[in-house]
Amino acid sequence: MTVNFSFQVAATDGRARTGAITTPRGEIRTPAFMPVGTAATVKAMMPESVAATGADVLLGNTYHLMLRPTAERIAALGGLHEFMNWQKPILTDSGGFQVMSLAELRKLTEEGVAFRSHIDGSKHMLTPERSMEIQALLGSDIVMCFDECPALPATDKAVEQSMELSMRWARRSKDAFGDRPGHALFGIQQGGVTRELRAASADKLKEIGFHGYAIGGLAVGEGQEAMFGVLDYAPDMLPVDKPRYLMGVGKPDDIVGAVARGVDMMDCVLPSRSGRTGQAWTRRGQVNIKNARHADDPRPLDADCTCPACRNYSRAYLHHVFRAQEMISGMLLTWHNLHYYQELMADMRRAIAGGGFDAWQAVFHAQRQDGDIEPL
Ligand SMILES: [Zn+2]
Repeated sequence: MTVNFSFQVAATDGRARTGAITTPRGEIRTPAFMPVGTAATVKAMMPESVAATGADVLLGNTYHLMLRPTAERIAALGGLHEFMNWQKPILTDSGGFQVMSLAELRKLTEEGVAFRSHIDGSKHMLTPERSMEIQALLGSDIVMCFDECPALPATDKAVEQSMELSMRWARRSKDAFGDRPGHALFGIQQGGVTRELRAASADKLKEIGFHGYAIGGLAVGEGQEAMFGVLDYAPDMLPVDKPRYLMGVGKPDDIVGAVARGVDMMDCVLPSRSGRTGQAWTRRGQVNIKNARHADDPRPLDADCTCPACRNYSRAYLHHVFRAQEMISGMLLTWHNLHYYQELMADMRRAIAGGGFDAWQAVFHAQRQDGDIEPL
């Protein structure tokens, strides 16, 4: 029997919801956090270790993989799951956000975006059709529409024109995606921080019809207050029976605030990137392992955490290997951070299912302190 892509909400608490996305490659428990595997690897982590943290799904980057090693090469080698040894679901972005950040190296037209590779300066073109082709070659389970996200600051007119272009590209993405049982295509709502534009974008996407809906164009420097302001209404503009994915978010308190506003999926490089720069995220706040006060501390990073970095190593050791620039430093702190993020998601799923999400949020916020936290 072919398993198709589907989404079930099991419980709601306020605007927060918990449930599961079913795919042929396994279930994604929601709310879900997706670690980012930019270049077919979550940096410093073995795929088995990423799975051991509790991740059900990874994010891969179209832009990076099309340039190196190329989507055609990955397809010839059996697809991205086989290539990187990750058999669970993979969501790929469309490349639109990455090419936007190339600034002067790109040229935007109705057709798509022409750009030069940041690696070797070679010329490339991304269009909705080419993005769909690349994501199919990779074998992505959840494909994202090719969209345009204006660089901030942008005028209202520029945001509106960009949103309208993205909606025309969403139509072309849907047409190019075709009918691929077991695979999903997500539309991306744009419209910046303007309610009317967000509503127009949501209406257009619903008219086209997608398996899921992302909220794009946030977490691009507008700040948490403005982002939450948009999330106070944007998720409710999207179909209640489809997954809602907030792209590129975020810090733990951003994630909790987004879940409270009805978001089901998120991704961010933060836990893995900060793991490589000596920053650890914990229930009680951040630990900066490079600080000298950890040098003689035999206690774990977080006594409550069951990850290998906390079970088997002291703060003194983690401090030492960070200072000595040993590879195990990034490996252990990334593992800890991804473990913490997945525990956070599991805690929220339990709290929502049990109808105690408000109380859980109160404890979450009360536990947290600013600065480099002291061990208990
Ligand atoms: Zn830990």
